[in-house]
Amino acid sequence: MPQILDGIAVRTRIMDGLKPRVKQLQRPPGLAVVLVGDDPASGQYVRNKIKTCAELGVYSQKLTPPASISTEDLLAVIDGLNKREDIDAILVQMPLPKQIDSRRILEAVAPDKDADGFHPVNVGHLVAGRPAPQACTPAGVIQMLKHYGISMEGRRAVVVGRSDIVGKPMALMLLAENATVTVCHSRTADLAEECRRADILVAAIGKPGLITSTFISPGATVIDVGTSRISDRDEARRLGRLEEFDAKGSAWVGDVNPVDVKRVSGAYSPVPGGVGPLTIAMLMTNTVALAERHQCSG
Ligand code: NAP
Repeated sequence: MPQILDGIAVRTRIMDGLKPRVKQLQRPPGLAVVLVGDDPASGQYVRNKIKTCAELGVYSQKLTPPASISTEDLLAVIDGLNKREDIDAILVQMPLPKQIDSRRILEAVAPDKDADGFHPVNVGHLVAGRPAPQACTPAGVIQMLKHYGISMEGRRAVVVGRSDIVGKPMALMLLAENATVTVCHSRTADLAEECRRADILVAAIGKPGLITSTFISPGATVIDVGTSRISDRDEARRLGRLEEFDAKGSAWVGDVNPVDVKRVSGAYSPVPGGVGPLTIAMLMTNTVALAERHQCSG
């Protein structure tokens, strides 16, 4: 049986490591979360983030501008947060309403208050190997691999997905750990063949169960970043989730077929319970590191 990479255990260790760092600060780290409009899924994500702040002793403030806000008015909100001394980190919950220029908003967050590590200056720091806030989900994957002692140096890593928030930073972080990295995407000619070369396979696609046994080299480590809700019973059967589906009318699955990965891999992160819990833990890591930087330099 493969080793199961348990995200809750890694999250607990990350949070335990942050608690003494928060206590040593002169004032609590401050995180501002900007939630535009009333999308229920975004609202739930923000509640989870704020709950985790409370668990850690991080001061959090939620700002809730209306869905009708203009780009200019939202820029003014960000500008106000950039100037506040009690706010170390700013997170703008995505997606934003259509009328808003999301890129301008993300680029308006001061790079040294960029809780999500999405600002181009911080992406540049990642490319150059300098310390800076990093995209939370891929940073969580690196922590998971380290926690379980899975060596990256010299190993072949394949990342499926090239988004700015997961795939690309994931590839850069694996490269920084001295893995030999291949990035695949929707135009990759033979995805299964590329994936089969991987010692470490990271799937960040958003296509339920796309990665099947023919994509996985026996003994490989498989990290499933994908999260999709399926509402088709046959699909639930294919992915071994019939029981959950029949109880709830839907099921949460990843990009990797859970039945196949159990048979073939050497270690894998399940969905749910794998990478998911790490994203907020890494948001807290970025927030605490920014607070330490501000309080040391201030
Ligand atoms: P995204 O922006 O939609 O990017 C998806 C990537 O997958 C794209 O690069 C796309 O290629 C590639 N792709 C799509 N279909 C493909 C196919 N058939 N074969 C190969 N590549 C294909 O998604 P994302 O934001 O990176 O998120 C990916 C998944 O991770 C989603 O399920 C999301 O919900 C999940 N996620 C989870 C967490 C967490 O905390 N657990 C956090 C973030 C994201 P192209 O570039 O060619 O279009």
